[in-house]
Amino acid sequence: MTAGGAGPPAAPDAEDTGRPASVPGRRLAQLDGLDVTVLRGVGEGARRDLEALGIRSVLDLLTHYPRRYIDGTRMVALGDVVPGESVSVLAEVRRVRRNSGRPGGGRGRGRGPARVDVEVVDPTGRLQLVFFNQVWRAGQLPVGTLALFYGKVGAYRGEVQMVNPTAEVLRPGLPGEEASGGAGTGASEDVGTGRVFPVYPLSEKAELTSARLARFVGEALDRAGELADPVPEVWRRRFGLVGRTAAWNGIHRPTRMEQREPSRRRLAFDELFRLQLALVLRRRRLEEDARGIRHAVVRPDGSSLPHRFLAALPFEATGAQRRAIDVILADLAGPLPMHRLLQGDVGSGKTVVAVATLLAGVGGGHQGALMAPTEVLAEQHAAGVGRLIEGLSVPDPATLTGTRPVTVRLLTSRTGARERAELHRGLAEGTVDLVIGTHALLGEDVAFASLGVVVIDEQHRFGVEQRAALREKGRGPDGTGHDPDLLVMTATPIPRTAAMVVFGDLDMTVVDELPPGRTPVQTTWARTDLEAAAAWARVREEVSAGRRAYVVCPLVDGSERVEAASAVRESERLAAEELSGLRLGLLHGQMSSVEKESVMASFREGTVDVLVATTVVEVGVDVAEATVMVVEDADRFGIAQLHQLRGRVGRGGDPSWCFLLSRSDSPEATARLEALERTGDGFELADVDLALRGEGTILGAQQKGRSDLLLARLLSDRDLVDDARVLAEELVGEDPSLARHPLLVDELRLFVDDDEAAFLFKS
Ligand code: ADP
Ligand code: MG
Repeated sequence: MTAGGAGPPAAPDAEDTGRPASVPGRRLAQLDGLDVTVLRGVGEGARRDLEALGIRSVLDLLTHYPRRYIDGTRMVALGDVVPGESVSVLAEVRRVRRNSGRPGGGRGRGRGPARVDVEVVDPTGRLQLVFFNQVWRAGQLPVGTLALFYGKVGAYRGEVQMVNPTAEVLRPGLPGEEASGGAGTGASEDVGTGRVFPVYPLSEKAELTSARLARFVGEALDRAGELADPVPEVWRRRFGLVGRTAAWNGIHRPTRMEQREPSRRRLAFDELFRLQLALVLRRRRLEEDARGIRHAVVRPDGSSLPHRFLAALPFEATGAQRRAIDVILADLAGPLPMHRLLQGDVGSGKTVVAVATLLAGVGGGHQGALMAPTEVLAEQHAAGVGRLIEGLSVPDPATLTGTRPVTVRLLTSRTGARERAELHRGLAEGTVDLVIGTHALLGEDVAFASLGVVVIDEQHRFGVEQRAALREKGRGPDGTGHDPDLLVMTATPIPRTAAMVVFGDLDMTVVDELPPGRTPVQTTWARTDLEAAAAWARVREEVSAGRRAYVVCPLVDGSERVEAASAVRESERLAAEELSGLRLGLLHGQMSSVEKESVMASFREGTVDVLVATTVVEVGVDVAEATVMVVEDADRFGIAQLHQLRGRVGRGGDPSWCFLLSRSDSPEATARLEALERTGDGFELADVDLALRGEGTILGAQQKGRSDLLLARLLSDRDLVDDARVLAEELVGEDPSLARHPLLVDELRLFVDDDEAAFLFKS
């Protein structure tokens, strides 16, 4: 490929995936550098109103997208309005009369509630609007206001009228116009011209109307003219995308409703493409700097520690577990450090995969670290892993037999000083093979002889920095060590596209199979006292049959202390009432680790029948005899959290139940609780969750800078996410520094923060 940068854009060459160097048109960075006050009509007032919406630059303005549109091509003309129908009309205010009613409501005879009468007109006729108890309408709809009204047409004393319609102001009336030029006379021009009106999100207080914002945007678009398009024609054709200039015009001022979607798709593609490009570049940079370990997964005698581990398990690994382990072992044997995300539903057996991964590192003479978000979970993992690897040994020439057992240790913030010192020594000397712990593992005085593999469980509880910090332990204080291979695991599945956006710098493996013999957990949303009573009866029944139950206390906002106190009260209440006579144990975040450990042990052994707990039981607690889960005030929990909680039961072969106690009838709570009743499939629930909560919350803190997804929809735009990924990979594959795509570099810099940009572009 020739590296030419000059000359007019030639006919696209099939091999030419990016037009080099100069792309004509205005760049986003230029728009970002222009203050909105360069626009006519943006005076001090408008500037302040725009700023309240987060709009400072022209680029901010152009990325402030309409919330919805009003189809001016489908409006009913006032001349055609017939009583009895609900219609939209577009009309101008001709007269406003305010009749103040009796203060405190119309108790007196003859005087009704406060009302505002508004007469509106269009070129075909007029209509009377009546607003009751909405005195503020007089201020909202002064004479000259052009607005869209929607409501049911009625008749009163022979005159057609609309009572309490909704009103969407498209052009404000007389007061407050800075530079509209001829307010109050324009109705006839605007009405019936087949326009589509954008409705912008606005802040409550601001004077700014949607119509005025639309005018600013229109001016910005006019003056910007042709926009530089970083996606060349060849690619646009390949992915079916319209040009950027057309897209920005089509989303802000479509002339037909049909223009909106192709425009949105194109701009959504840009959002996703920038994101994928940053992720692919990030991954590339990590690999360039990497000092990986080629793990000797298979030993000279043909055996491997992970395989011996699998063979010794009391059960057969599932196909999904074996597939995941194979992929991981191949990663470990390779020269680059693994960066892999392991997704699997609650109870799919991710721990077995994690342990096999850690053992692969140990078998090759390195150490492994498993980090968990809570002490309860770390302790349980340490105990569980200890049992799982019992009998496994590694070569040790210093011993008589030439081997020694694989050693596992626990490290949390509550590990005693002496034990800790000993553990530190063992890690530094390499006599401890596996360490399992909380973020205490990140402590400065924790150093490894040779950290080969890092596994992070329930990664959503950790930040990106903590992931990186643990990985850095491999290089050691003097920086001469290696980069350990990294496996991160999710607590519950997230939709594939969301994972591609949030974890796009990681490879992905899905454990998509549950161990055999699981019976689905019967889930009931208990809405009434009667249904709740049935739940408590089930708890008693199961306990009397020798099984156990969890009760999760209401989520309390505020401090962990307040939550703990309420859990204490709730367990006392339950002991006196619904669950009197049963042996209750209490578990909350304010207890010491000794107390926690002891109550968990009693529950495991069965000397405690019911564990009353806060959400500390959410992650990973594994007691096979527990068959009932009761969640109080279930509407206060999110879908993923409830699914996690439910995953604590149904772990043995016995039938299990989950009762979600809630009297809430809010639509969101209903949607969540019904979804849990309907399905036990975590991947399906993840989709429901995304649909209900939108992309913002899912991506939340993971996202940096301005790379928010404003238009992209991770559920319905799956194809765009894939396309963006494909293109990003192709592009970085053939032009790793993006030297031939300065426009893309330019744009990426706008959307990532400075540190990230410095890392991505080595500047
Ligand atoms: P999660 O993926 O939620 O972390 P765990 O790793 O805690 O799941 O496994 C859940 C339970 O299933 C554990 O009790 C574990 O011992 C058991 N388990 C894991 N793999 C298998 C298997 N292949 N066959 C039977 N039981 C299994
Ligand atoms: Mg787990």
